[in-house]
Amino acid sequence: MSERPRLTVLSGPSGVGKSTVVAHMRKAHPEVWLSVSCTTRKPRPGEKNGVQYHFVDDDQFDKLIANGELLEWATFAGNRYGTPRLEVLRRLESGEPVLLEIDLQGARQVRESMPEAQLVFLAPPSWEELVRRLTGRGTESPEVIEERLTTARVELAAESEFDTTLVNTSVEDVAAELLALMRVV
Ligand code: ADP
Ligand code: 5GP
Repeated sequence: MSERPRLTVLSGPSGVGKSTVVAHMRKAHPEVWLSVSCTTRKPRPGEKNGVQYHFVDDDQFDKLIANGELLEWATFAGNRYGTPRLEVLRRLESGEPVLLEIDLQGARQVRESMPEAQLVFLAPPSWEELVRRLTGRGTESPEVIEERLTTARVELAAESEFDTTLVNTSVEDVAAELLALMRVV
């Protein structure tokens, strides 16, 4: 396996802890570059434009697609999400470790367009724990939680499409495993 940093894709069902793990990892290793996606979803309390996401409207998202500016994009739970292409390629070219935190549909697109990418699946310790985390986060309505759990069943069934599975029992452990996979430590 190459020692050169390469593109790493982190996916897993909503609520499994992807953002938590990535934030923990980047606190200790800010040199890991996380792509900031564009989304038509409305910001959650505390989310800032340009930090968690670039928050755009439907027309702006249409233009990003039409102009070929997205490396991949998908509709997830009624909103569109996409990865700006240019910055990802620029960072990879300069040799930085690059991380995408995207859904299953996006991971499949990246596997097609960049087969050298490493696909990592973050799995919950159990279905019950996933439901508890998604509900406990308290950021979504019961309807949206239900929609995300329906999607989660589909996503969990796709685990074998990924190169590696990490089970998110301990945030510290998973963050360390991810850093090792990215050859950062
Ligand atoms: P995602 O980004 O995958 O949608 P989040 O990072 O928002 O998920 O995490 C969902 C919830 O689960 C949050 O409330 C978070 O604090 C909690 N969580 C994340 N990882 C763990 C863990 N290892 N153990 C317990 N709770 C966790
Ligand atoms: P959330 O609304 O909870 O922030 O994200 C919902 C889902 O969209 C998560 O599974 C997240 O990984 C995914 N997501 C975030 N950004 C992107 C993106 O740029 N592309 C794709 N395909 N999925 C994304």
